[in-house]
Amino acid sequence: MTIVYGGCIEPGGIELEDDTVTVKCPACQGSAVQRYWECCEGGSINQYSALACSDCGHAEGDLPDWCFDDS
Ligand SMILES: [Zn+2]
Repeated sequence: MTIVYGGCIEPGGIELEDDTVTVKCPACQGSAVQRYWECCEGGSINQYSALACSDCGHAEGDLPDWCFDDS
């Protein structure tokens, strides 16, 4: 869920969504991970999604490496 307090974004006041689901890879029909996440950029919340296949390495979607970490 996303919680935003007030008109400005502050650490602790928001909870960014970051979900992953297993889907079928469109390239090799293997098992891929579809990730949905949100980033706070310039004071606004942007929603992204991306797909990454562990079988063939296929990747698509929004892949901004500045907020695509596995920590
Ligand atoms: Zn694949």
